[in-house]
Amino acid sequence: KSDSLQPTKMANDKLLDGLLSPGFDEKSCLSRYRSFLYRKASQHKPSPYLLSKLREYEDLHKRCGPYTRSYNETLKRLKSSHTGSTGGCNYIVWLGSNGMGNRIISMASAFLYALLANRVLLVDHGRDMAHLFCEPFPNTSWILPMDFPIKKQFHTLKQRHDRFRDISESSPPSFVYVNIPHGTYDFDELFLCDQSRALLEKVPWFILSSDQYFAPSFFLSPSFKQEVSKLFPEKETIFHQLGRYLLHPSNQVWRVITKFYQTNLAKAEQRIGLQIRVFNRKTSPVQVVMDQILSCMLKKKLLPEVDTQNDVRSSPPNNSSKTILITSLYSDYYENMSAMYQSKPTVTGEVIRVCQPSHEEYQHEADNLHNMKAWAEIYLLSLSDVLVTSAGSTFGYAAQGLGGLKPWMLIRPKNKMVPYPPCRLDKSMDPCFHYAPSYECKAKHKTDFFTVAPYVRHCADRQAGVKLF
Ligand code: GDP
Repeated sequence: KSDSLQPTKMANDKLLDGLLSPGFDEKSCLSRYRSFLYRKASQHKPSPYLLSKLREYEDLHKRCGPYTRSYNETLKRLKSSHTGSTGGCNYIVWLGSNGMGNRIISMASAFLYALLANRVLLVDHGRDMAHLFCEPFPNTSWILPMDFPIKKQFHTLKQRHDRFRDISESSPPSFVYVNIPHGTYDFDELFLCDQSRALLEKVPWFILSSDQYFAPSFFLSPSFKQEVSKLFPEKETIFHQLGRYLLHPSNQVWRVITKFYQTNLAKAEQRIGLQIRVFNRKTSPVQVVMDQILSCMLKKKLLPEVDTQNDVRSSPPNNSSKTILITSLYSDYYENMSAMYQSKPTVTGEVIRVCQPSHEEYQHEADNLHNMKAWAEIYLLSLSDVLVTSAGSTFGYAAQGLGGLKPWMLIRPKNKMVPYPPCRLDKSMDPCFHYAPSYECKAKHKTDFFTVAPYVRHCADRQAGVKLF
């Protein structure tokens, strides 16, 4: 390679093959242009069509973002039942719920919807998500302003669940609020069918509360399907591309990430991320999960066995080293694994180190610092070379998607038994949508997703869910 090509390559790497706009003040968000120093270059290039769509979206957001003339005009409609001009912009307001993994994958889905439906994405990060992410769009903001008129009512709005049939065609409302409670995904007709979509276009404010990765749903709508396929010729990379475009740790979170990385991970030849999410401690006791992890990682040769015969190294010296980054609410697994690899040499002579950034013991509600730690750990996991995650956990999904990694997935134990097999290599990096949609507009009857979109399959870790391959 000629040296003169290097600066161009570096600029390409820094902007993630054109995914990122160069128009930001670098200091305001160090992670945006430095992620390429920590994460291996993606094997999946964004499509030129996606790049042009993102640049177009950035212009739209700048024109319609908070406090612009268009925004102020559209807001008037919300304040009164004023039905005049809308200022030419439509919005989707995202409200999150649940943990950070859920919020991250749902936010990315809302952004995909914004791209497809030409809406401007504004997010309500409240207090517990404050200062976690950088602004993703240049010269504007994606944060829903504090003085947004119906913000105080969001809590009470949560009691409602507006459906398509609630929208009056003759006088469309100024906003529609859709709360998709955990476990009941029946928004398909509202989102996807051409007739309801045309109606929804007349509603400037679409307020959506969701905690799921609903991106696969768009393949049920003929017109969205065409557009989303054009944006993402490699379907399993939807979250990978959108997440790396949208989600940059704030400088505060970036400090935590880089400090931990330099101290614990930078020198390792191989970084193995191990995410241990225990949903039920009774059916998954520590020893069972520990046995399962070792059974998976030793059998799949992700880790070497320890030499039980010798206390000192008998194999030829081997300078290679692996570091296991454990993320878990608990410290037991870290203690077990580090004791194991500290007490005996390994049969291969490799040196195995173990580290864990935090152990929060339980999932805290409405806690900004707790969410910050979770986001930092999701990001650290995404910098791994190899990833082992826990079935059904959106925390793991977010990490695998950002990292572009197909994880080894630990099957959820039942009845205090190590499952067989203990883990499986997932077939795609895209998150699982836990609630498969099943509506097809033309046919007007429920239909099977898999006949309309053959690249959608059931998730290995959740039979009721679907994911893209
Ligand atoms: P899921 O419940 O596994 O799908 O993942 P979520 O991220 O949506 O919710 C779990 C929440 O519990 C996280 O957001 C954290 O607040 C907390 N949590 C679970 N596992 C970990 C972990 O390994 N590290 C940290 N810091 N927090 C965790």
